[in-house]
Amino acid sequence: GNWDGGVVAYKDITERKKYEDKLKELALHDPLTGFPNRTYFSQCLKIELEKAKRTKMLLSVFALDIDHFKEINDTYGHDIGDEVLKEFAKRVKSSIRKNDILARIGGDEFVILIPELTDKTMVIEIADRIHKSIRDGWIIANEKVKITSSIGISLYNQVDTEEKTLFKNADLALYEAKKKGRNNYQIYNEPKTG
Ligand code: GH3
Ligand code: MG
Repeated sequence: GNWDGGVVAYKDITERKKYEDKLKELALHDPLTGFPNRTYFSQCLKIELEKAKRTKMLLSVFALDIDHFKEINDTYGHDIGDEVLKEFAKRVKSSIRKNDILARIGGDEFVILIPELTDKTMVIEIADRIHKSIRDGWIIANEKVKITSSIGISLYNQVDTEEKTLFKNADLALYEAKKKGRNNYQIYNEPKTG
């Protein structure tokens, strides 16, 4: 009798474990694209910032937002808009390294964490690669469509950048990129003091 009870208890635990894993998955991922969400991203950023402080490596945060995405929704409908978001995420993911983290943090807004950068200028190559990857080949309802994205970039400067500041600065740079006509990237520059 004791053994049977043991077997049943074991099954219960695996079921519950699966359920808990599913909950964790839902809490940390965006259901549409399957990519990490903001919470997951922030946790990783915290860890990577600590690492960067120790190792004196560079770290960068990219903020991306699709240009005129509302027009896609308005012209083709929300479901097609969803498909564009998924394809966009896939393309961006394919142009970064395995250890870089891509997250969807809002409607058409994504962020990328790029840890262990050896050289500042690498961010330019990455931004170019992303722009190239989303430039061509969009066909929606048998029509060729152009999709572009603006990118804001902030760099960890080894001094006092906090997790939230990196996030905010990338967003400010993104705002600049939008203002400069979209389909470009901007790197956040520390304002000069004194
Ligand atoms: P901008 O160039 O300034 O970024 O213009 P935009 O049209 O892309 O405007 P914005 O980024 O402010 O708006 C994003 C739109 O994305 C707003 C909302 O209707 C749409 N959206 C938000 N979440 C979803 C979603 O899950 N699916 C779809 N299809 N659309 C979404
Ligand atoms: Mg947009």
